[in-house]
Amino acid sequence: METDSDIKTTPRGFHCTLCNVNLPNMPSLEQHVKGKKHKTLSSVRTTRKTQEELSLFVSGIKPEISQTDISEYFEQFGPLSDVIMDKDKGVFAIVQFSETDSVQAALSCVEHQMKGLKLRVKPREKKEFKLIDKKTKAPQQVFDRLKPQLCQVVSVDAQMQHVVQQFQLGENEKKARSLLVQLLQEVFVEFFPDSQILPFGSSVNTFGIHNCDLDLFLDLENTKVFQARAKTTTEQAGEGMSDDGRSEDSILSDIDLSTASPAEVLDLVAAILRRCVPSVYKVHVVSSARLPVVKFHHRKLNLQADITINNRLAVRNTRFLQLCSGREDRLRPLVYTIRYWAKQKQLAGNLGGAGPLLNNYALTLLIIFFLQNCEPAVLPSVEKLKDMACEEEECVIEGWNCTFPSQPIAVPPSKNTQDLCSLLAGFFSFYAKFDFASSVISVREGRALPITDYLSKNKEEEAMQEEKPTHTHHHSPKLGPLNLLDPFELTHNVAGNLNERSQRSFQRECQEADKYCHCLQYQRKSTKGKSWGLVRLFAPHGDVPHAKTEQLTISIPFKLASLPEVLRNQLHTAGDGFRLLWFQKVCSAVEEVFQSVLRCHLAPSSNAVFGEDSAVNAAEEMETSAASLNTSTNSCDSIESQNEALGTAAVGGKRALSSGSDESVSPRGKKARLSKRGKPESPHWICALEHVVWAGRRKVRRELIKDTDSRPEGSCIEIESQVTAHIIEKEPELKEPVEFKVQPQVVGETESTKAVLKFEPTCDKTGVFQDFFHFLEAFLPKMVETVLEKQAGSA
Ligand code: ATP
Ligand code: MG
Repeated sequence: METDSDIKTTPRGFHCTLCNVNLPNMPSLEQHVKGKKHKTLSSVRTTRKTQEELSLFVSGIKPEISQTDISEYFEQFGPLSDVIMDKDKGVFAIVQFSETDSVQAALSCVEHQMKGLKLRVKPREKKEFKLIDKKTKAPQQVFDRLKPQLCQVVSVDAQMQHVVQQFQLGENEKKARSLLVQLLQEVFVEFFPDSQILPFGSSVNTFGIHNCDLDLFLDLENTKVFQARAKTTTEQAGEGMSDDGRSEDSILSDIDLSTASPAEVLDLVAAILRRCVPSVYKVHVVSSARLPVVKFHHRKLNLQADITINNRLAVRNTRFLQLCSGREDRLRPLVYTIRYWAKQKQLAGNLGGAGPLLNNYALTLLIIFFLQNCEPAVLPSVEKLKDMACEEEECVIEGWNCTFPSQPIAVPPSKNTQDLCSLLAGFFSFYAKFDFASSVISVREGRALPITDYLSKNKEEEAMQEEKPTHTHHHSPKLGPLNLLDPFELTHNVAGNLNERSQRSFQRECQEADKYCHCLQYQRKSTKGKSWGLVRLFAPHGDVPHAKTEQLTISIPFKLASLPEVLRNQLHTAGDGFRLLWFQKVCSAVEEVFQSVLRCHLAPSSNAVFGEDSAVNAAEEMETSAASLNTSTNSCDSIESQNEALGTAAVGGKRALSSGSDESVSPRGKKARLSKRGKPESPHWICALEHVVWAGRRKVRRELIKDTDSRPEGSCIEIESQVTAHIIEKEPELKEPVEFKVQPQVVGETESTKAVLKFEPTCDKTGVFQDFFHFLEAFLPKMVETVLEKQAGSA
């Protein structure tokens, strides 16, 4: 019974409020309720509830009253099971009885007198049982402390400045770090003559917070020169003494820096740290990282530190962040605020440095990119900064041009006068509408580059060759759901570690924040002491339920990486029209999945949308699609240019929008719906389904393929079609077919490019549509990917 009240029905299935988890369907709900977590939490809650009911809150006591005094007094009403004294001040106690009658007896006593004190006795307050995750406890405490402070100040700008004050590294912390750097320098120079240890990252980039890690770069370039010289001298003199009189240390003589691998050098660094630096613990080498690193903990300073040896670019990009911060005062409050927001929303901060979330460097670049794109710009592009530098400031690292002025004064101040409050709102609004799927963010150029520029590998390689002819090893950036190029190492996607889920969360949280920033509570201080401004923005992830678009929609994201090469090339040729071309292909694939794989019947009217084969219809169709593209993007090209871009479909005139139309079941000539008279109904399919083709698929698949093929669900059209056929053969028909409408739409430019399919059950007498929809949510996007691959292969 109790469990029932924990389960809420949502349009996407169920939600267990006790465990804070979503369950997509009935079987998973049943499994969850029987599971260990749910059972343990239920039983803990029952125990707590019983304890609460058997307890009394006693106040009016004095610190000199002992636990025994309280026990002795209350035992007159019945046996006690516990007495908890208020530890800090000793002014209240919780008295827990073993039986309910005793509670009643104590409560019905009119006056409680003990050792000359008049006690106040009342039932213990009933608290709602809430799951507290240990990992979230400390951040929660920080937030709880911050909340009242933020509520008190006068404006969002002041709140943002307060955030900086609260989190920034204090002078003592900076001093302690710099002393440690000095000590390390003294130690390392003993073993690696002429080496230099340089701090970078948040300890010095002006965005550091208490307890942030200490990133260090051990520069061994001069040591290599020293070693080479020493070698020559030794060879000549036959002695172990270099020409400047310094003896080559035994550790250094063990290793030839010009040929040693980074892992070997780092092992040596680790050995030096262990042996020679006091208060250093937990030293270990991580050679599998993109940049191998030695990690250690400094116990006295309680800080985590990393030493890398091939990280000159990071030292330089730290200088770049310092420059931006020195030029633009508004950057620091923005970075601290957005970093904290992202942490609260679990969008940034990968534990141990690896994970699918944004790291702080990437997040800072996103902020800089936004500022480059404000009107007027708050910060210039890196390319413009390069032009502001003088000759002595020229800097090339590993073939990458890293030139920018060394002093902020060399960069003209921005003409943008927006306050922090509106810039913060602008940041959320900018990324809420940003088309991540089809853009590559270039902080270097200060603009988003079309992803189509990166679709053809060759073209990109050529371009880079032109730009950097001396650099021989070109890699294309690892494209993913969020493409953010490093401003200097132009083939490095600093957000390449993000998965789709984390990219989607980032954008969704930006959308939520954007919505909130339009409310009065954002800008106006509450006169009633309520939360306002940043406080609500910082509410931890999960505190504020998302205003979900609880429509029945399935999105098929534009995932460049998983598209077949042939299609990538076609999209590349389509230029700006690539969205529409891709959308057509997706529509055609969706149609094939419904018809051939799941054996849905497509009602005749569906075909008027996607199946006509006349040139007129194809053009009209595109117009409709373009209209839907326009409604959601409001910046789409004209129909002519779309047609031009789509070449074959429009000019060739013989191909309908959907190439899967050949198998279509509808009659021809249904053009009325697209008539120019009146507003055309948006394109859609009407589908009917007579069997529970979603039920037990996994089992049937397993039986069918019998270990000969371990391909996952949705990865093979033939197998999935067979699975459907098998279910149709074995399972009885539904009493009434389920009918539903599917409206496809392509969105992009002002949000991530994707095909959105809106579902609407039009006849669901057996009540199974929800189950079918849940199945489609996972099945359809995967299957569409597979069909696209097949279609590209047979093109
Ligand atoms: P914090 O340590 O507070 O999370 P941070 O800026 O120090 O912030 P780290 O992840 O410790 O972030 O990285 C240290 C520095 O290394 C960054 O400031 C940046 O200069 C460089 N860096 C980090 N990640 C990347 C990356 N993906 N590409 C290029 N440089 C990076
Ligand atoms: Mg760091």
